[in-house]
Amino acid sequence: RIAYVNGRYVAHAEARVHIEDRGYQFADGVYEVCEVARGFIVDMPRHLARLKRSLKELSIAWPVSEGVLPMLLREVVRRNHVVNGLVYVQVTRGVASREFVFPATGTRSALVITARKADPAAAAKRVETGIKVITVPENRWDRVDIKSTGLLPNVLAKQKAKDAGAQEAWFVDIDGTVKEGGSSNAWIITRDGVLVTRPAEHGILRGITRTTLFDVAAKLGLKIEERGFSVAEAKAAREAFISSATTIAMPVVEIDGAPIANGHPGSMTLSLRQAFFDIAEKSPA
Ligand code: PLP
Repeated sequence: RIAYVNGRYVAHAEARVHIEDRGYQFADGVYEVCEVARGFIVDMPRHLARLKRSLKELSIAWPVSEGVLPMLLREVVRRNHVVNGLVYVQVTRGVASREFVFPATGTRSALVITARKADPAAAAKRVETGIKVITVPENRWDRVDIKSTGLLPNVLAKQKAKDAGAQEAWFVDIDGTVKEGGSSNAWIITRDGVLVTRPAEHGILRGITRTTLFDVAAKLGLKIEERGFSVAEAKAAREAFISSATTIAMPVVEIDGAPIANGHPGSMTLSLRQAFFDIAEKSPA
């Protein structure tokens, strides 16, 4: 495997960053994950637009000129012969002596890009069974709209899910509404067939897959309501699913041990998933 590290393509096993990289010391960095499917990078422009926003919100400088990033992503995908999998891009504020305040101007932000293969057969199998979700109290900061590498609450929540035999944890707000998953957005489908997901203005990451699923739903003539929903409403829903770049739309069949409907993946979720690839933007890798 090959990684891109600050202007160089290096063997993944030998790829290194400095111990005083602020990403390492403070999680002072941002990232994106794009799905690679059938040789295309999915929704790359939207991912790069969100990266731009994350950088701006944290006043981190572009590590390279904005225009070359698509080319670098493609090149890392190509060099790793990834046809199905993902490409990961991370920008940190760079290397500087450990001080909380921003380093001197002129400190170069650091760019790392990796890519890895995934097995579409394994994903298909997961879709067939669906996933189980647990709920955990929201304990993250209030800027989760920024795709920061500071993910310790997400790590702990997802480990708790794993220990409970589940695959995702949903953060639940103090008012009892579901916010989002540790690495995905949360959705339900009501008995009337309406898609429900939380508004992205506050308290969640505006998922790129979430945005593209709005396009998919419009194409399929499905109604979406952007509003909060409680755990009780989710448990009583017709269907539930999560969305993210790597899971697309993944059926949820159990929440805190309670089955959703008949405990099998929902047909509307599967239709959304099916239509997703046709509608998403596809950049040849
Ligand atoms: N919410 C969180 C906390 C995430 O980490 C992710 C992706 O990793 C998402 C939502 C889904 O975002 P996207 O669809 O852009 O992958």
